[in-house]
Amino acid sequence: MPNPVIFSVNGPVVKVRDTNAFSMMEMVYVGHCRLIGEVIGMNDTETTIQVYEGTSGLMTGEPVEPTGAPMSVTLGPGILNNIFDGIERPLKTLESVSGAFIGDGIDVPLLDTEREYDVTVKVKTGTVLQGGEAYASCQETSAILHLCMVPPMLSGEVIRTVKDGKYRLNDEIICLKDAAGQEHSLTLCQRWPIRRARPAARRLPPSRPMITGQRVLDTLFPIARGGAAAIPGGFGTGKTMTQHQIAKWCDADIIVYIGCGERGNEMTQVLEEFTALKDPRTGKSLMERTVLIANTSNMPVAAREASIYTGITLAEYYRDMGYHIAIMADSTSRWAEALREISGRLEEMPAEEGYPAYLPSRLSEFYERTGAYETLSGREGSVTVIGAVSPQGSDFSEPVTQNTRRFVRCFWGLDKSLAYARHYPAINWTSSYSEYLDDLAPYYEKQVNPKFVQYRSEISTLLKEEQTLMDIVRLIGSDVLPEDQKLVIEIARVIRVGFLQQNAYHAEDTYVPLEKQYLMMKLILHVYRRAQELMRDGTALADIAASGIFELVIKVKYDIPNRQPERFRTLTQQIDATLDGLRTQKKEVL
Ligand code: ADP
Ligand code: MG
Repeated sequence: MPNPVIFSVNGPVVKVRDTNAFSMMEMVYVGHCRLIGEVIGMNDTETTIQVYEGTSGLMTGEPVEPTGAPMSVTLGPGILNNIFDGIERPLKTLESVSGAFIGDGIDVPLLDTEREYDVTVKVKTGTVLQGGEAYASCQETSAILHLCMVPPMLSGEVIRTVKDGKYRLNDEIICLKDAAGQEHSLTLCQRWPIRRARPAARRLPPSRPMITGQRVLDTLFPIARGGAAAIPGGFGTGKTMTQHQIAKWCDADIIVYIGCGERGNEMTQVLEEFTALKDPRTGKSLMERTVLIANTSNMPVAAREASIYTGITLAEYYRDMGYHIAIMADSTSRWAEALREISGRLEEMPAEEGYPAYLPSRLSEFYERTGAYETLSGREGSVTVIGAVSPQGSDFSEPVTQNTRRFVRCFWGLDKSLAYARHYPAINWTSSYSEYLDDLAPYYEKQVNPKFVQYRSEISTLLKEEQTLMDIVRLIGSDVLPEDQKLVIEIARVIRVGFLQQNAYHAEDTYVPLEKQYLMMKLILHVYRRAQELMRDGTALADIAASGIFELVIKVKYDIPNRQPERFRTLTQQIDATLDGLRTQKKEVL
């Protein structure tokens, strides 16, 4: 039977008048150029296909070829230290095939099929394997050992294996015979449909933070391993910068960076910076444990829609090996806009601000795939997502921000006025929140210090008190405030400038370990208590301020290197001596 032919083309949406040839979500080849498409709608008269590549030049009457499989990615070694488009086509290879721009309909293999890996086979003939169990391993990059796992739905007895040695992506490593007697040749790779979550044995409760080295995040609004956070913020407030910082410094094993509908040069910058950056964990290039998915503003809109599914599928695959993965998605708003554009072409009934009515369910499906899990083979792994949201004009009441808020438990709201005042990271400490605080408290108390959580809440209370006091000051000026409240304002300034502000460009300050975050809080609160005592005994706040101790505390982030926490003790002694001096002076005056 000849393939059905195109009946209409509308941007990325192609229609075919045939209903039997395809199934829903099936991947298809569209036109003579064999553009990659996916079946997204069907009724009794026509089939609707979204095309992941440019459709200009496509004509009615051209054939559409079914593939019999859903839109899938190839999972295997070669993903890391690589850069792909939204449907996992490698950008370096495409560049060399078609010049500077990605051509349409060029069929390149997704992963390198020529490269040889040193493979260790972990099973013998006769071994019975379940889905998710590893049968071989190879060093994918210097940083990551890759496990080749039986696809989740398969199990059986090993009837053939190769010897340890050098193999390529599609070479058979083992052959598995299932209960029905059917043989399955397993290679170094497998396929998986991007819109279906890879199964795991069970979800684990959040119990450990993903440490970012960013004080305002780790201390005030921590995210759990396997958690989800949103970074909403208007243009230029620091969404990309914050994601770069997290990607560079967080303690995840693997980074999946999805550049979705943003400027291309930002992705180039990620590639250059991550390649050049010496990874604090391995001493090698950070790219050795990173994969970039680039679907920048100039690339086809449907592939942008697919890119976040591709990204999370790759992440789940490494999770199944027992790794902890952090996904940066910049920006989920551009993804939602792609959804809106396609929905418009489909002439669907628009909901809020033109977004389709299924925007919330799509967001929920995406964030639902995060989490800490026990994998099918009993390992522990997690997928953490940090999604940037770019509301027009910083208006957080728009649908993407509001709906995202429903599905994430960390909200790191960026503030235009803070960014304008160069308070970076411009995370608003009043409107931001983390719902993981209680889950993570035991970790901070056991692993960092029993007092961590208490200090954190004292710091946060001081910031809240400042907020209330500033409302009064704005109305009637600061003169009317009693001294102890003026001290609160002064200490809150120390917290804001000395603790919350963190300079991404400063060698020491760009990343701060939890221990130093704790010691900084401790020092600030110590100074606060000492100042309170002195003032109770009659010393004026102005005299304490004039002694320079507040400035000393503010500069601690630069002055005490991360590796020398013991210097906090000498600094505290120095400050105490200064304050004791103030008290003696006071007594002498009396
Ligand atoms: P957005 O992605 O929200 O449009 P960017 O992340 O590109 O904004 O940030 C804009 C600028 O703000 C950056 O180029 C940088 O100069 C500044 N900036 C943001 N965060 C920080 C930070 N943590 N430290 C220093 N500068 C920052
Ligand atoms: Mg940005």
